[in-house]
Amino acid sequence: PPDVEELGRSSWTLLHSITATYPEAPTSNDQSNVKQFLGLFGKLYPCWVCAEDFQVFMERNKVRAESRDEFGTWMCEAHNEVNRKLGKKEFDCAKWEERWRTGWKD
Ligand code: FAD
Repeated sequence: PPDVEELGRSSWTLLHSITATYPEAPTSNDQSNVKQFLGLFGKLYPCWVCAEDFQVFMERNKVRAESRDEFGTWMCEAHNEVNRKLGKKEFDCAKWEERWRTGWKD
């Protein structure tokens, strides 16, 4: 089975990168696509406990994607939920775009 930490880092890179390239003014089709994608991602993610908890998070915190910033912030909050669960530091979601779009390295 895949290494849960390596898989996680790669997956967060993919997920935050998707929010970074998401349109500033998404169409209803754009919004429907990301909701479908994340719904399936939550079912297919190859770490079962992770996938299950992510699905519960999405049940309680519906995907918000009416703008790039809203979607990037939603994803940051989803990531922070996992950070809290794992006892990691929370990330300041005001900085999601700096981290994942306009760029700095950690
Ligand atoms: P990661 O958490 O992988 O973060 C990578 C980089 O993202 C960080 O270095 C930082 O620059 C940036 N970052 C950190 N927080 C945020 C944020 N909130 N918003 C934006 N950027 C941020 N692991 C488990 O052991 N159990 C689980 O149940 C679990 N569930 C997961 C569910 C999902 C959907 C995903 C994608 C991953 C899950 N993981 C889980 C993996 C876990 O989140 C980490 O990826 C893994 O522990 C490696 O952590 P890391 O400290 O290297 O950095």
